[in-house]
Amino acid sequence: MMPARSVTRAVVLAVAVLCARPAAAEPLPPNELGRVMILEYHKIDHPENRWTRTPDNFRRDLQRLWERGYRLIGLNDFLDGRILLPPGTTPVILTFDDSSPGQFRYVERQGEWVIDPDCAVGIIEAFARAHPEFGRAATFYVLPGADPPNRLFNQPALATRKLTYLATNGYEIGNHTLWHANLSRYREPVVRTQIATAQEWIQRHVPGYRPRTLALPMGGYPRETRWAETGAVNGTAYRHDAILMVAGGAALSPYAKGFDPYHLPRIQAVESEIGGWLTYFDRHPGERYVSDGEPATVSVPGKSAGKVRSIPGVRIVERP
Ligand SMILES: [Zn+2]
Repeated sequence: MMPARSVTRAVVLAVAVLCARPAAAEPLPPNELGRVMILEYHKIDHPENRWTRTPDNFRRDLQRLWERGYRLIGLNDFLDGRILLPPGTTPVILTFDDSSPGQFRYVERQGEWVIDPDCAVGIIEAFARAHPEFGRAATFYVLPGADPPNRLFNQPALATRKLTYLATNGYEIGNHTLWHANLSRYREPVVRTQIATAQEWIQRHVPGYRPRTLALPMGGYPRETRWAETGAVNGTAYRHDAILMVAGGAALSPYAKGFDPYHLPRIQAVESEIGGWLTYFDRHPGERYVSDGEPATVSVPGKSAGKVRSIPGVRIVERP
């Protein structure tokens, strides 16, 4: 038996060890007015450069997000305010522009097509198998009419299979125009045709699929934003619930007054930006979105209920 004095010392020691845990290990209080990172990837390939993340660095991004309590959600769920995450966790959204080969590639193994474990989809799926609570979601802004290698991931015979796979496995397909047109440079009919035709060509592969969001090539807004929001060309009607920019930092919470889905900012997933934002939120945990785990309530810091936009059926709870 331990003498009383040693017991006391052991308790003191245990308390000291507990108190010395790094701040990151403390559960974060809910803040559903906090900001959300929408990460913007281009190529997943070698070597790492301005528009390329290597497979290993992309895996490391997922690992760093996971360790810090981030969880993948779909962009459409974000727009709908359907953030169904456990308490204390933070949503993060992955987007991939330009449908380059390293984003989604099949390789042949013993006569069967399997998803390349080194492409973005393969990496996301392997990570989700190892950490099911991390989630599995991403939006792919594809180019149905671009020159190779950017036309629908560059395996023409497998394009339908890939787009169908995305549409039926928790991923989203977004509009990025037909062949990456900078919409700031064109007249209204060209802008509308670029958008409607991209959708029509996506629907050749996935009949009836409606891309709900548009990512602007090179961030170029058309002269009037409404041209990109909704319209119809030759019987193809399009309607976008959000328009994504190429930069701008972390997005506002979808519950915040001032949330503007037609000017959604993104964070380019290069080391300087992604690393910088992870460090920023490590240092300012009060600024990141933290779920309360209750889909029917929006939990916000004290005295900030006035910053929440009114959403039917959702109750606002101010934290003490
Ligand atoms: Zn692009």
